[in-house]
Amino acid sequence: METRNLIGGEYTTPKAGQVRILNPSNIEEEVGVIHLSTAADVLQAGEAARRALPSWAGTTGAARGEVLYRMAQQLESRADEIATLASSEMGKPISEMRGEVTRGIHLLRYYAGEGVRAIGDVIPASATQVLQYSKRVPLGVVGLITPWNFPVAIPIWKIAPALICGNTILWKPAEVASLTAARLAEVFQDAGLPAGVLNLVVGKGRDVGDAMLQQVELDAVSFTGSTAIGRHVAGVCAKRNIKYQTEMGGKNAAVVLSDADLAVTVPAILSGAFRSAGQKCTATSRIIVESAIYDELVDALRQGLSTVKLGHALDPASYLGPVASQSQYETVRSYVKLAHDDAQMLLSGETDVNEASGYYVRPLIAGGVGVDHPLIQEEIFGPVATLLRAQDLDEAIALCNQTIYGLSASVFTRDVRHGLRFLDEAEAGMVRVNLETAGVEYQAPFGGMKLSSSHTREQGQAALDFYSQLKTCAVYYG
Ligand code: NAD
Repeated sequence: METRNLIGGEYTTPKAGQVRILNPSNIEEEVGVIHLSTAADVLQAGEAARRALPSWAGTTGAARGEVLYRMAQQLESRADEIATLASSEMGKPISEMRGEVTRGIHLLRYYAGEGVRAIGDVIPASATQVLQYSKRVPLGVVGLITPWNFPVAIPIWKIAPALICGNTILWKPAEVASLTAARLAEVFQDAGLPAGVLNLVVGKGRDVGDAMLQQVELDAVSFTGSTAIGRHVAGVCAKRNIKYQTEMGGKNAAVVLSDADLAVTVPAILSGAFRSAGQKCTATSRIIVESAIYDELVDALRQGLSTVKLGHALDPASYLGPVASQSQYETVRSYVKLAHDDAQMLLSGETDVNEASGYYVRPLIAGGVGVDHPLIQEEIFGPVATLLRAQDLDEAIALCNQTIYGLSASVFTRDVRHGLRFLDEAEAGMVRVNLETAGVEYQAPFGGMKLSSSHTREQGQAALDFYSQLKTCAVYYG
């Protein structure tokens, strides 16, 4: 497969270079070629989105909802093809990838229904015979910059609310997810999206992404990716005075108290840490354990790890696949080396896959490093989790909060008072009791505190706040 841009309803092949995409499960297999765009392509796409805006913004919410329903239908009819392509492109196991596509379908249907929901308020006026009310109106042309780790769900959780609110879109996916993005854009165009409402431009962040941010006439930007790039995006948007949203990194903690039910805790920790090979912003990266249960938990994790199968992403039995790309592999391996050099205790998974055939990293849990160590403080974004000891709940909460990030956090306990106190005091946007750190549902607000997010939330009703602006209207009818 080869990528094509989608600009103003036309497919074009840009000319700024090509990148061969190798299957991370088997690097001898080429999955496709992506064609890189220039700044001129991005500008053209921005103009197409601007031209399409009046007509799309002018249609009713009900009509826009109909298009979203058809997008959901098209995606459903091609779900397997999309899931297989994404698994082959970025290594997420097929079982998880199918779930992600299903989530995308649900998101489209959820936001399709929002087209006919009551919006705005009637506000009492101080004078008689004045009708005063507020309503939501579109922002205009929105720029979407997406990462590779949820190649289907993240683009859709931006595209669907942006469209239902009446905006047109300029979308730049991550390089490593560009094949999937190009196929998704085709699927959506086939569903009957008017030309220019969704425009896709494939390319490198520093070229295409930067041209989009600096040069295109945009009204808002929604970005998901690393904290370093997110802060840059926020800075540029703030200078331009356009609305922005940045969803960024995490260093999420699972706190295990001495009264935890390990039959619930261990599967939730393994899933949080190792599904998607740890490449979720909400992945469990620190396991903070009350001393009294530390040894018991370590034994249970050791046993649990023996059931976690590292394998080819298209093997339905694989619990985790390879990491997504060579650069991911090199970064994650550098943390594995650090763990081997500095940790006092290591629990490692086994595999029968030929590790040299792809970007495979065995699941690893490292214990016995200090709280300031890079393994504890830096986002690894791979199948590497760390263990920390805490004397009691107070210390566990303090350790949980000792990070620049604040995306998600969980506590495992049978004591509802401890659970509720944790929900109050953990500095994270998504806090959970006896549930893994990942897995927040699409109908609930998604986002973080501190350096994990800017000031808005994605998904659920919160996304409608981001993708629209309020107008206050008043009518004198005397
Ligand atoms: P990244 O920051 O490298 O890239 C994200 C996107 O930004 C890509 O499309 C990239 O091409 C683009 N980009 C890069 N440089 C740019 C520039 N100068 N201007 C404009 N765009 C530019 O992140 P990634 O490696 O794709 O994704 C992994 C990161 O994403 C992790 O840190 C993870 O925690 C984070 N993430 C966060 C959430 C969340 O909701 N908080 C969800 C998923 C992933």
